[in-house]
Amino acid sequence: MSKAKEKVQEDVKPIIYDSVNKTNYQRGSFLGKGGFAKCYEFKNLSTGEVFAGKIVSKSMLIKPHHKEKMFQEINIHRSLSHKYIVSLHSYFQDSSNVYIILELCSKRSLMEMHKRRKTFTVPEARYFMRQILLACKYMHDNQVIHRDLKLGNLFLNDNMELKVGDFGLATRISFEGERKKTLCGTPNYIAPEILTKKGHSFEVDIWSLGCILYTLLVGSPPFETNTLKNTYSKIKKNDYFLPISMDAAAKSLIKKLLHPDPLCRPSSEEILMHDFLTNGYIPTRLPTSCLCMKPRITHNMSVFELTKNADRKPLLESGQLPSTDAAQDIFEENGKDPGPTKALLLDGAAPKDSYLSELLAMLDSILKCNPEALYTGQPEDAQDPSAVPFVWISKWVDYSDKYGIGYQLCDNSIGVFYNDSTHIVLLADGKNLQYIDADAEQFYTMPDYPPELKKKMTILNYFNTYMNENLLKAGESARPREGDEMSQVPHLRAWFRTKTAIVFHLSNGTFQANFFQDHTKIILCPIMSAVSYIDEEKNFSVYTVPLIEKYGCLPSLTLKLNYARGMIDRLLKS
Ligand code: ADP
Repeated sequence: MSKAKEKVQEDVKPIIYDSVNKTNYQRGSFLGKGGFAKCYEFKNLSTGEVFAGKIVSKSMLIKPHHKEKMFQEINIHRSLSHKYIVSLHSYFQDSSNVYIILELCSKRSLMEMHKRRKTFTVPEARYFMRQILLACKYMHDNQVIHRDLKLGNLFLNDNMELKVGDFGLATRISFEGERKKTLCGTPNYIAPEILTKKGHSFEVDIWSLGCILYTLLVGSPPFETNTLKNTYSKIKKNDYFLPISMDAAAKSLIKKLLHPDPLCRPSSEEILMHDFLTNGYIPTRLPTSCLCMKPRITHNMSVFELTKNADRKPLLESGQLPSTDAAQDIFEENGKDPGPTKALLLDGAAPKDSYLSELLAMLDSILKCNPEALYTGQPEDAQDPSAVPFVWISKWVDYSDKYGIGYQLCDNSIGVFYNDSTHIVLLADGKNLQYIDADAEQFYTMPDYPPELKKKMTILNYFNTYMNENLLKAGESARPREGDEMSQVPHLRAWFRTKTAIVFHLSNGTFQANFFQDHTKIILCPIMSAVSYIDEEKNFSVYTVPLIEKYGCLPSLTLKLNYARGMIDRLLKS
């Protein structure tokens, strides 16, 4: 058998035996591919526990220094045990691969969240910074420098807890005051002292934290240019710009973290004491809806903060919590007591047409490359699970000749788009409500909603019962998520039916078409440039535009994408 064939056969092995711990793992869905590794869900068949199994083919480790580097990575990583660090459960090898069994982080990383959200709210930035800092303090206390802290290495688990991962560039300090002289690899947020080869230590991680905080709040990295050369030159000159509108405490912290002299940067412990982390609201947990929608920072939360920190600078002055201002404006405008309304923050980030032009451009570039001609089969590499959608419509009922359309999102929240163009969304917890009309979005908690919504709520309950009792969920594989008072989910912005399909467009840009004849579905995400396909057998596959341009796509899917293009055009024209 040829070497290549042998490798493919190894790849498809569904049960993998760990001879060290005498355990069988079942290889599950594909999680992603890195420079050296492929990652899958691994289920321990004796305990049922699910992990992320990283598979490194030995054919990738031919040069001795590659092997050495990988075992150094494993050794550093497995010596660490902390709530906010991906835990390395075990590792083993067989004749073809090395397997690393890691804690599963199924909500991907801050990289994908940043792509979807662009900017984070200040409370979210505080929440994540605190967790990274605790991990960083632990690593540094244990003489480990990570050296490649970046959004893609900050993973998220199901509870939206952050886990620092990928110790591929990490190193251990062997004596106090040691300055490292070399680094094999290119850290993403590289510190100036690495570029000038002056010798570096723990402070390079602090520099990266400055870049991370900046990116979360501004939406792009501080030294970004078109070329690496220009970026490096800006880093060496400490040439970056802090927007005036940025939260004052964040500004002061970023200046400290991005100090050109490493010895002037604060330690993680000092940063944890900085105003940014001590003087403002830090959520104790975040809902998973934050992965694609800005959370609601409610009136209550800000009031809570103001009373809790009564002796400190009021939050409103530094503008971290615009929600309170916004709430005030709307209260005055409406001239009435908001009652149970808690937050009135509208996400102004989405473009006016809710990404319809982006969707059109995305399909144009796919269809232009003649994807059915390019298609020669379905290698796993043709898929990109990191672009997996978090929101789609899993059930719907068209009762528009009387009331409107009712739908369930995959997270179990329920929405109705009424014939009078208003919406109600009941979150998955069955408690939190969003009411949306042309002017604003209002939030209520069950059972405290205004009496004028009573009729609409009755209709919503009617739809809910009908869908629960009669309909199957599309894309069942998705784990149900809980709603939460900080959650916001997109609403159905437009929809229509043709003979072929029902078409949905959500307020976050997601486009969906359910085809009547074969029950297949496509979900398009303009932000991630992703095409997801639920086929006749209910298999869920995620492709991205660059991958389709490289590997092509199934003729049947190409046809449906062509159809979707026409429907998007129609949505744009209406
Ligand atoms: P490499 O070291 O070769 O770059 P990565 O560490 O980037 O490999 O892993 C490959 C892919 O696997 C990543 O893109 C990520 O999406 C996924 N991945 C890595 N670790 C985990 C984990 N603990 N949980 C879930 N997915 C993971």
